[in-house]
Amino acid sequence: MKAQQDQLVIYNSLKGEKETFKPLIEGHVGMYVCGPTLYSEPHMGNMRTFINFDLIYRYLLHLGFSVKYVRNITDAGHITNSAGQEVDSIGEAAKAAQMQSLEIVYKYAVKFQELQRIYNLLPPSIEPTATQHIQEQIEIIEQIIANGYAYEVNGSVYFDTRRYMQDFHYGILSGRKVDELENETRSLNAQDEKRFFADFALWKKANPNDMQIWRSPWGNGNPGWHIECTAMSTKYLGKQFDIHGGGMDLKFPHHEDEIAQSCGSFGCNPARYWMHANMLNVNGQKMSKSFGNYFLPKQILDGSTGLFEKSYSANVVRFFMMQAHYRSNLDFTQEALNAAEKGYERLIEGLKTLDKVPTSTSSFDVDALVASFYKAMNDDFNAPILVSYLFEAVKQINLVNDGSASISAADQAKLRTAMQAFIHDVLGLQAENNQTETRLAPVMDLVLDLRQQARSNKDWTTSDQIRDGLAKAGIVVKDGKDGTSWS
Ligand code: AMP
Ligand code: ZN
Repeated sequence: MKAQQDQLVIYNSLKGEKETFKPLIEGHVGMYVCGPTLYSEPHMGNMRTFINFDLIYRYLLHLGFSVKYVRNITDAGHITNSAGQEVDSIGEAAKAAQMQSLEIVYKYAVKFQELQRIYNLLPPSIEPTATQHIQEQIEIIEQIIANGYAYEVNGSVYFDTRRYMQDFHYGILSGRKVDELENETRSLNAQDEKRFFADFALWKKANPNDMQIWRSPWGNGNPGWHIECTAMSTKYLGKQFDIHGGGMDLKFPHHEDEIAQSCGSFGCNPARYWMHANMLNVNGQKMSKSFGNYFLPKQILDGSTGLFEKSYSANVVRFFMMQAHYRSNLDFTQEALNAAEKGYERLIEGLKTLDKVPTSTSSFDVDALVASFYKAMNDDFNAPILVSYLFEAVKQINLVNDGSASISAADQAKLRTAMQAFIHDVLGLQAENNQTETRLAPVMDLVLDLRQQARSNKDWTTSDQIRDGLAKAGIVVKDGKDGTSWS
């Protein structure tokens, strides 16, 4: 796989272009992705970003890299809202629910874990939380102050953007120019503690309504949002690591400020490759809690989104997402979901047919086809192109099945291994029905044997109990002349 590792090209948002991927340590990748703020259940848009980074993680693993994947949980801090104000969203949600902050976070962390299982996301290597790393955040803030890039006012600490701009490039990632920003941002008024409108909070003095408060050298308070990610990425991956990812909407201010904090404390940009996943839209508008145009990842599974006339399985939804490149926008539509459902079935059927096709001494060019799978993914994780080549493989398999093309036994095995790896391991699609049926089959054999024994012993109570119990679980047992079957 080393040869394939060397071919990997990544679009680096920092440079605005594709670059050959060269990790800091050969064969190893350190990747940090901004995780959810758990003040509510993640919506389908949030899931899209996490699914996209799961795809990236899976492909890096497939290439044989040893990957340390860190994805945090934001369970504290003041988040900048769309009006540019810093608000404690978790505290507000906790108050509304008459719960404590961490109770809210835990409630949604459990839901998030369940969603990850359902949508087949691999667990990251570690999921640190902000509240576990307050000390590390304080230490970095102290370092930034010591370096002259932050100032304390009345128990709060702000990043000194103007001072920073004398030595570094603020806007290096987002391309934002501070003078343009000034027009977009509300002007400073007398109550503002910040010296300059673009300064941002590293530490906020506690106010009487705060639900979570920590001690610091500047008095009681709580951390700003951006400093959390700097503390956690540095702790687990070092001052500089390979990949930093998140949704496109985090580029500014969150990621720009993470860069400023790392440069301001350690003198270097934390990540060599910045990756940004594009948004899930609804009718052209970003799916978002604040716009109210969101649905939950579970609603699409039980058909309760109110947008589509039927439900879809998690595999179909995931496959649908894989048909858009992670840097492209994606809109959920009924037609596209239906097409994905059919396409997914065709793919899984093609894989099954491959096992049954007659083999011969000659083959179509299987090596070229498998090489195209890698070529697609090596080109900045281009899953939609990979899917188009997988469909090309299905087309060839069907031709072999019809007798219009041929495949050797060795090539059949090679293609099967590659298709299974790309469909299941890389795209993260499960052979859902198969999998449940395969696991259920021996259990059903056992249950039906017990039922048969009960019937032989004329123990009708037990045999009826088994039949009724199965019916409740949606499994119908039929006794025919060829024996007992279930469905
Ligand atoms: P949050 O919980 O709001 O911090 O968001 C968690 C992740 O979801 C971040 O990486 C966001 O960029 C991402 N995200 C939020 N809204 C969307 C959306 N509509 N489509 C894709 N990703 C999103
Ligand atoms: Zn972050």
